[in-house]
Amino acid sequence: MVSLKDKHSFRISASANEVISVTHRDQLSELTNPDELWILGEGTNTIFTEDFQGKILWIQLRGIEVTEHSDAWSLQVAAGENWHQLVEYTLLHGMPGLENLALIPGSVGAAPVQNIGAYGVELSEFIEAVEGYDLKTGEARYLPKDSCGFSYRESVFKTPEFSHFVITDVHLRIPKDWAPTLSYADLADMPSSSTAHEVMQRVITVRRRKLPDPAEIPNAGSFFKNPVVDHTRLKMLQEKYPTMPVYPVDDQSSKIPAGWLIDKAGLKALQVGDAGVHEQQALVLVNRGAASGQELSQLAHQIIAQVHDIYGVKLEPEVRLLNRSGLIPKSHWWQDGA
Ligand SMILES: Cc1cc2nc3c(=O)[nH]c(=O)nc-3n(C[C@H](O)[C@H](O)[C@H](O)COP(=O)(O)OP(=O)(O)OC[C@H]3O[C@@H](n4cnc5c(N)ncnc54)[C@H](O)[C@@H]3O)c2cc1C
Repeated sequence: MVSLKDKHSFRISASANEVISVTHRDQLSELTNPDELWILGEGTNTIFTEDFQGKILWIQLRGIEVTEHSDAWSLQVAAGENWHQLVEYTLLHGMPGLENLALIPGSVGAAPVQNIGAYGVELSEFIEAVEGYDLKTGEARYLPKDSCGFSYRESVFKTPEFSHFVITDVHLRIPKDWAPTLSYADLADMPSSSTAHEVMQRVITVRRRKLPDPAEIPNAGSFFKNPVVDHTRLKMLQEKYPTMPVYPVDDQSSKIPAGWLIDKAGLKALQVGDAGVHEQQALVLVNRGAASGQELSQLAHQIIAQVHDIYGVKLEPEVRLLNRSGLIPKSHWWQDGA
């Protein structure tokens, strides 16, 4: 058995039967028993709650290729590159656009899986295509953006059809026609003449202030997705909580910050063993020492049940939580009537 403690940022003591480092694309076609494999990047959005009875495919592919066009830059980036280093690379080489996504932990290959987003920008805005290899069918695929099913923290790569699909390369298109995106509250006071570098510095400062660094306090970022509610539920909630922040999604639904719901419910002090809620950012669950998977599970269940009791809203983990046999299904979190 191989320890996974250093391979996921929540740092629960768990292990796997084997960790296979993928450094060349050719390795993928030689792998057998795809059902036993779990694809892993930097483990900042994955939590192993138990010993995993399978093998980890640890994506370590490297390389960045840039092609310049008259109106944009095209980048082919290997899945094992670090996302923040890529953001820095683009800015250093005069390609502004990704600055609002600075300091999001993790690998480039995982970025399309949940369509990473922050400070008013989503990765999907820059995706041209996603390329990879299906371990089950043995098929290499090039998926143009329209086939990737991107929405808020979602993509086809989270669906069962793609559960054996290893993203090897992400193709980005960064338009030359650039203006800073300053719509998000923490950036709104910046002048419209701000440079991409200045925006990146602000994003980094704000993130460092607001989010715990996993290197200091193990965590996996936002533990829950911000729930999307229909307007009937929204109206009921707004009558009771007039100061509740709301972000419209479309004509029928709006997003409510899960952190606000947890905080307002008075759940920041919740703690099960060493698993707790971060004091400043209620959306982040933390490992205060030697949290076990069971403690974390219990804590998540308590939060989901209490938020449901108070607001009638179902929280759902954003993090990929695994048990011994693989991904824990959504239904598991709602089984207590929530
Ligand atoms: C402190 C902190 C802050 C965060 N802030 C944000 C934020 O602002 N916005 C945001 O969107 N996210 C945020 N996250 C979540 C995280 O950064 C992203 O989800 C990131 O993309 C995860 O990258 P990873 O390489 O660590 O993924 P992993 O945890 O290794 O994997 C995540 C998922 O992607 C799959 N996967 C990984 N690599 C591949 C591949 N090559 N091919 C196919 N599937 C793959 C895995 O199987 C898993 O399902 C934050 C996390 C932390 C810890």
